[in-house]
Amino acid sequence: MTAYLGSLLRERALDDPLALQFLPDERELHALSYETSDPIGDVPYSPVKGIVHRYPDRVLLKVAHSCPVYCRFCFRREMIGSKGDALQGVELDAAIDYVREHREVWEVILTGGDPLSLSSRRLGDILGRLALIDHVGVLRIHSRVPIVAPNSVDETHVSALVQSKPIYLAVHVNHPEEVTEPVVTALRRLSESGVALLSQTVLLKGVNDSAPVLEALFRRLVLLKVRPYYLHHPDLAPGTSHFRVPIEVGQELMRVLRGRLSGLCLPTYVLDIPGGFGKVPIGPVYVSGNSLSGSREILDNQGIRHRYPE
Ligand SMILES: *Cc1c(COP(=O)(O)O)cnc(C)c1O
Ligand code: SF4
Repeated sequence: MTAYLGSLLRERALDDPLALQFLPDERELHALSYETSDPIGDVPYSPVKGIVHRYPDRVLLKVAHSCPVYCRFCFRREMIGSKGDALQGVELDAAIDYVREHREVWEVILTGGDPLSLSSRRLGDILGRLALIDHVGVLRIHSRVPIVAPNSVDETHVSALVQSKPIYLAVHVNHPEEVTEPVVTALRRLSESGVALLSQTVLLKGVNDSAPVLEALFRRLVLLKVRPYYLHHPDLAPGTSHFRVPIEVGQELMRVLRGRLSGLCLPTYVLDIPGGFGKVPIGPVYVSGNSLSGSREILDNQGIRHRYPE
């Protein structure tokens, strides 16, 4: 845990939305039969160490094995911290060679562990080598560092993100109270350097399973030029069932938010299908019936159905 996060969590109740995300809980000991250590099936899609290639046009590159924090609901919690050091040397070369040899790879997504926990020199080196590959168009980084260790996003770190190819940074943020003044400074610094900012949020019971909380979070992010990208239904990681709400609850939240928020503020609600079948939007479903029988109906933001002639 970072010193910054320690001070942010100080004197919070155990059921506080920030404390719940980071402090251990007895309920974690209770794993369900269908929860697994590889809930989204990364392992079978890993052709070489550090790469996950599940979709033709993009790969994950897991450059770091550690995070500055340990989120209690993390789907990689079985892997993080346990495998030692970051990908480096010949293993890193082999992973980058894999990208170079696969011309269909248009986007490389650095994840981990947390890529921004690497030194700026290492990060800049990896991004620079990837940017030199002709068929790689876009580099994306998924990180929680700007939120949990905002003071480490300094000028040196940000300069590593200035590359010849567009860089998208998806920050993992779950609650409006995570967006403190130091976080605002870090996000401003990033957007001023030309990095395009996105966010991903995990829907978590007791943390952000409420329309006003999500509304406040998404509005705050858009004001900071962070475009909400995904709202993730939590993965089936062992001992995390106390964080999951039924999918109906997530769909209802999204329907209510669509009636209240600018489209700019609305992420897509997604689920990663267990077993490695990929991420898909899971609703709400606005269309029902079918066009052939003339029974097509469309749901509005108030939850009312309207006939749609086709
Ligand atoms: C989530 C994920 C991606 C990125 O998917 P997008 O929908 O493009 O954000 C890529 N590869 C793997 C293996 C993933 O799990
Ligand atoms: S920052 Fe992300 S990868 Fe790291 S522990 Fe938290 S959820 Fe897991």
